[in-house]
Amino acid sequence: MYDVVVVGAGVTGAFIARELSKYRLSILVIDKESDVAMGTSKANSAIVHAGYDAVPGTLKALLNIRGNKMMKRISEELDVSFKMTGSLVVCFSKDGIFELEELKIRGFKNGVEDLEIIGADRLREMEPNISPNAVVALYAPSAGIICPYELTLHAMENAVENGAELKLECELSGISYDREVFRLETTKGVIECRYLVNAAGLYSDTVAEMAGDHSFRINPRKGEYVLLDKIYGSFVNRVIFQLPTDKGKGVLVTPTVDGNLLVGPNAEDIDDKTDTSTTSRGLSEVINVARLSVPSLDTRGIITSFAGLRATGSTGDFIIGPSPVNNKLIHAAGIESPGLTAAPAIGEMVADVLKKNGLKLEDKPDYCPYIEKYTPSRKMSESQWNEAVKKDPAHGRIVCRCEKITEADIVASIRRTIGARNVDAVKRRTRAGMGRCQGGFCSPRVVEILSKELGIPFEEVTKSGGKSVFLLKKTK
Ligand SMILES: Cc1cc2nc3c(=O)[nH]c(=O)nc-3n(C[C@H](O)[C@H](O)[C@H](O)COP(=O)(O)OP(=O)(O)OC[C@H]3O[C@@H](n4cnc5c(N)ncnc54)[C@H](O)[C@@H]3O)c2cc1C
Repeated sequence: MYDVVVVGAGVTGAFIARELSKYRLSILVIDKESDVAMGTSKANSAIVHAGYDAVPGTLKALLNIRGNKMMKRISEELDVSFKMTGSLVVCFSKDGIFELEELKIRGFKNGVEDLEIIGADRLREMEPNISPNAVVALYAPSAGIICPYELTLHAMENAVENGAELKLECELSGISYDREVFRLETTKGVIECRYLVNAAGLYSDTVAEMAGDHSFRINPRKGEYVLLDKIYGSFVNRVIFQLPTDKGKGVLVTPTVDGNLLVGPNAEDIDDKTDTSTTSRGLSEVINVARLSVPSLDTRGIITSFAGLRATGSTGDFIIGPSPVNNKLIHAAGIESPGLTAAPAIGEMVADVLKKNGLKLEDKPDYCPYIEKYTPSRKMSESQWNEAVKKDPAHGRIVCRCEKITEADIVASIRRTIGARNVDAVKRRTRAGMGRCQGGFCSPRVVEILSKELGIPFEEVTKSGGKSVFLLKKTK
């Protein structure tokens, strides 16, 4: 019997678990996938939004601002790559200034204090590769870029290190409630709890329906991206947006924390919650729109493409609060953008909602907000690296040449609190396979290391859990 079960190990569930792990509670997080951050939290723009876009008074606005303000501290506590680069919304006609003024006022109402409208000369000084047609822009210094997998993984690891439990490949399929106890039917058997938190992303409406709650719907809205090689990473210095539309913040061009250039997303309402395919039409749209901001964008630099699905809620805002059918079921649903930015603030809010609905929150004196820092070989100075190699020669064996990831880094990723169990999980933790060759050289070696570390034959090592094996038969 758990005090709280959280359904969903995305960034929302991770920060809810981390917040609750401050208290004397038994907490379990379940996810149907083989790793944390396998839903929307792994495929997004990775921007820490300043907060001028959301409608004042909404939860999106409130929690965006709070999350933005928390992010620097959180990134230090959780050892997450984060850079406060600032962002620009660029306009291609002088009339655009009226819309920028509106965004600025909206930002001011939301509590973003440092917004500034800048002219063409300053814009070009800040961003030499910006289009000559860009004449005016809204500058938001408090926007930033972050690594979304690190944010999710490290928050969840911190929760686990503070006593929370995590069950992966554990899918919730039914909920019943009797005598103040939830009985959860899952692929790992029946689980019981007193409070249930629904952080199931795209499927949070399905989870609500399992409890007889039909109060909202979640519709998938796809966004496609292209990622460019590191030689293009400094093409822009900040996150470059165009004016937002009714479907979102529009196509952006941004450096990533690891030095690549990310371009996207478009926005397409679809029916299938599993469709993360990219299309040549979608990618062309993204590139063409991005070229309005940065005309010299060189498609020869593209190393991969991907798509993410926004969990667009029928209410238009984040849905955070007790279910109308049972106040011990708390929703954290409809968490579309700026959900990554808002996640730490959503964690706080959900803890507060649980408290208001009767959960006793008693401080745990030994709660530790920090996770142990790990410095990968690629981030070491030459002398540090030499020292590391002397202690463990695995630091000297480069496995991923594109990203300079060593055998020691890969072994460390498997031995983490929430260790990698497949090749994609190693990739998200270390970047092995994220470079120009996209794993062409390193994947077989990663399979080998996983096999040795996990004590399983090569044929059982998967790409991303389930049946996604690499080798069907052992060759002689
Ligand atoms: C294209 C795009 C761009 C974005 N850009 C930004 C951005 O730049 N900045 C920003 O702040 N936000 C951005 N967002 C939003 C942000 O990514 C999301 O708000 C956030 O990742 C949502 O996290 P989550 O944990 O709620 O959902 P998810 O990450 O989807 O996690 C939900 C989890 O629930 C699990 N689950 C579902 N059903 C079950 C079940 N029955 N049993 C067990 N487990 C289940 C899933 O497997 C999944 O792991 C963007 C989103 C998209 C799609």
